[in-house]
Amino acid sequence: MRVISCILTEHDLRLVLLAAFVAASGGWVAFGLFRRAGEKLGTQRLGWTFLAAVAAGATVWCTHFIAMLAFEVGAPITFAPLLTMVSFVIAIAGFGAGFHVALHDRKAPFPEAGGAIIGLAVAAMHYVGIMAYRVDGIVEWSGGYIVASVVMAIAFGAMALHQAVRRPWTFSHHLALGLFVLAVISLHFTGMTGLSVTPLVTGAQLADPEILVTMAVAVAGVSLIIAGTGVATYIIDSKATEELADLSERLAHMAYNDALTGLPNRAGFSEHLGRELALAKAHGSKLAVVSIDLDRFKEINDLRGLEAGDAALRLIGQRLRQLLQEGEFVARAGGDEFATVKRFTEQSDLLDFVARLEGAVFTPINIGDFQTVTGASLGVAVYPEDGDTEERLISNSELALYRAIADVTRATCFYEAHMDEASRARHTLAQDLRHAIERNELELYYQVQTSIATGDICGYEALLRWRHPVRGMVSPAEFIPIAEETGAIIPIGEWVLRTACREAATWSVPHKVAVNLSPVQFANADLARLVHEVLLQTDLSPNRLELELTESTIIGDKARTLHILRQLKSLGVTIAIDDFGTGYSSLSTLREFPFDKIKLDRSFMTEVEHSQQAKAVVRAVLSLGKTLEIKVLAEGVETSDQLAILRMEGCDEAQGYLLGKPQPIAQILLALTKFGNSKVIAAPHKSVAASRQKKRRQAAG
Ligand code: C2E
Ligand code: MG
Ligand code: MG
Repeated sequence: MRVISCILTEHDLRLVLLAAFVAASGGWVAFGLFRRAGEKLGTQRLGWTFLAAVAAGATVWCTHFIAMLAFEVGAPITFAPLLTMVSFVIAIAGFGAGFHVALHDRKAPFPEAGGAIIGLAVAAMHYVGIMAYRVDGIVEWSGGYIVASVVMAIAFGAMALHQAVRRPWTFSHHLALGLFVLAVISLHFTGMTGLSVTPLVTGAQLADPEILVTMAVAVAGVSLIIAGTGVATYIIDSKATEELADLSERLAHMAYNDALTGLPNRAGFSEHLGRELALAKAHGSKLAVVSIDLDRFKEINDLRGLEAGDAALRLIGQRLRQLLQEGEFVARAGGDEFATVKRFTEQSDLLDFVARLEGAVFTPINIGDFQTVTGASLGVAVYPEDGDTEERLISNSELALYRAIADVTRATCFYEAHMDEASRARHTLAQDLRHAIERNELELYYQVQTSIATGDICGYEALLRWRHPVRGMVSPAEFIPIAEETGAIIPIGEWVLRTACREAATWSVPHKVAVNLSPVQFANADLARLVHEVLLQTDLSPNRLELELTESTIIGDKARTLHILRQLKSLGVTIAIDDFGTGYSSLSTLREFPFDKIKLDRSFMTEVEHSQQAKAVVRAVLSLGKTLEIKVLAEGVETSDQLAILRMEGCDEAQGYLLGKPQPIAQILLALTKFGNSKVIAAPHKSVAASRQKKRRQAAG
């Protein structure tokens, strides 16, 4: 009560209101700046803390100064300049320290301790300011009021920063401002209530009240200018922050969208799929991923140029976007590929979606003066049955897509585990195969070829082996077709040729080496030039190299193959037809092509002992060879009975497990140095050994 009556009786009310206005408006600015400091880190936070401290310190000091001017003591007053300045510095430094502590950690007691420091600083400023206040009179203090004023300043200060930093309620920052103003006002007026001045009659003139008001207004003006500076900084920073947010939004848009079609890109797709998958899992609903690959896009690019290609992509992109309904999403996955996601519960909804997609890509498009239909292949994978992760769904939809691309009768294929897993395994193998040479995983084994009449070694067939780091030895029967499909056979075939010739050149006995050639090598590479080059580089005599090809090679492009074969023969190498009897086995093939050897397929050997028919075929091929003067080698000889039959029928050479399994080069080299020219590696058949003994006896005798 005494405080209120002190305000009403001893203060100029106009100035009290001005002081309250300064405290409230300056406090509002200071707390705004303080809030911004709380949002920043590091030096940015220090900068904003400083601004907040200057605004708050100046506000409080000006409030105090105006309130002092409002105090009507009835005696002349002056202000000691130095102490007045010190009180100003205390206010700013105290707020700086308090704010800093309060923001150090949002957990108690930091904000409250910071607030207490502020309360203390306000009190210190006030009482230092009072010390600077000189009055011609007897000044008496009441200790109780002083203590009460300081305690209130500290308590309200602590509460103010508790609200400002920890914001327990929605209106906390208004409350913080109110408590701050309360801290300042309560300190001042409680303190002033405890102060009594008995004026002395000194003859000095009392200050003109209007001058005091003018001074107070000037001080308030300064305070508002300082606060205004803070507001300006705040606005400038907000604008910059807004621009930054705008920029990062634009960057994010660029990162997640394709510039050409305006559709989301692969990254956008993956983000969307991740979200949809989480939703589908939470709601137990279904989700389909449909991968789309345009069929004739390359054609448009090649024939009409890149611009037409771009226009086609834009058009298709637009159509795909327009067909979307609730729960559907489309993105450009790159090149001429699109990817879509569809949330559904009924299979019929998915089928309807696929039909709409097909409609979009199979409707003709007009670009400039020409019309075309791009067409497309689509692959569908469904959550949960075809995969429950993003990667699985995408990769399974792509596997289905590959099947759709290969299938000319269907535009869309749904993922089918049994079909697509096999193709996935092939796909992985194909990828590994690309690095097989550089990783030194390839190796050649050699299988001996023996003369049936004498048992002498005629040569060795080089057979490729792939030591896969995880799967171990992979059979050429498995990986050669893959290498042919992917084109990897070209470098692999070259490696085989080079390695076989280089290794054969080191043999102590000049046996022939037979190398298998793939049809792809005939179709793609300048084979004759390669063989010529390899022979020169490895210094292998051409007559020691035999090239094996199958009939399928000839069927492809007869004229071209014949031309290449003639070139090869002119180098001095010999040519064998492999796996004879399994393919087309036409007589004309044998007549037209300059073969040096027929290799009778091993399937006949398994049957020749029991089947008269097989024996008849063997006999026919042998007589054909005789007529055309082409040597015949029987493949896959595993038993001595088979060998006996071959000998009886007059077959020239044999190859098979009975005579020697394919072996690594080290073992071949060992055998060659041990047995030299005249021994087969495996134990020869009894009669072969007998005929050799006879031969030796003849030579000796
Ligand atoms: P091919 O050229 O007909 O080779 C003979 C295959 O029969 C070899 O299988 C060999 O190990 C096997 N074999 C040999 N004797 C017997 C026997 O007594 N019984 C049985 N059951 N099999 C026997 P491999 O090494 O698995 O090669 C399979 C096929 O892979 C080869 O058939 C050839 O077509 C292809 N190939 C192997 N190496 C190469 C190469 O360097 N380049 C190309 N293009 N194809 C190769
Ligand atoms: Mg062969
Ligand atoms: Mg063969």
